[in-house]
Amino acid sequence: MNLDELLAVFALTNNQAEQSEIMEKILDYFVEVMNIRRSTVMNQLGLVFNQSYSSRFNAPHRYYVAGLLIGFRDRMQDYAGTVAESELIERLAWESERLIYGETRNSDLQGEHDAYLWFQEVNPQYMLTKTWVAIIDSKTCHTCAWLNGTTIPIDQLFLLAGQPIINGRGGEGVYSYIDRQVSIAHPNCRCNVKINVERR
Ligand SMILES: [Zn+2]
Repeated sequence: MNLDELLAVFALTNNQAEQSEIMEKILDYFVEVMNIRRSTVMNQLGLVFNQSYSSRFNAPHRYYVAGLLIGFRDRMQDYAGTVAESELIERLAWESERLIYGETRNSDLQGEHDAYLWFQEVNPQYMLTKTWVAIIDSKTCHTCAWLNGTTIPIDQLFLLAGQPIINGRGGEGVYSYIDRQVSIAHPNCRCNVKINVERR
């Protein structure tokens, strides 16, 4: 089964054993995306694989994606009970696509981020910062435009749940999602992160 099919079965099956088995497969997939990116950047930075560092980064990512998947399943099961089958299929396709796009990017950015974070920890003579880089065009939301150019130390958070922000429509709002180490503000966000390395 490909990822779309796994998500569809995960969301709609009533078999709990099957559901947990599929959830593990989906989690493995996103952790793998993150690990591949992290290994590539680690190689570039001359860092050597270390199991304890690796587990430290994998566990929170797994936990975070699991939370998203549970929310996705609950929404789909609610729809399954209330809308026509054609609408359910459409909704499922739309949400799966959004989840795959968002979490592939998030896993990729997080893998890169964690390699640099690790680099900073073993090389304190360097000072690493990260910059939020938005694509500025007619589709850019106010939140991403507002965050564009923000530069902070690598080990800090770009977005903290509960903090005041400029919302997508340009008004004042509160950021109410997970704490963010990487530059993703909302689903379908196109933002990127630039890592800056300076010798102290
Ligand atoms: Zn964005």
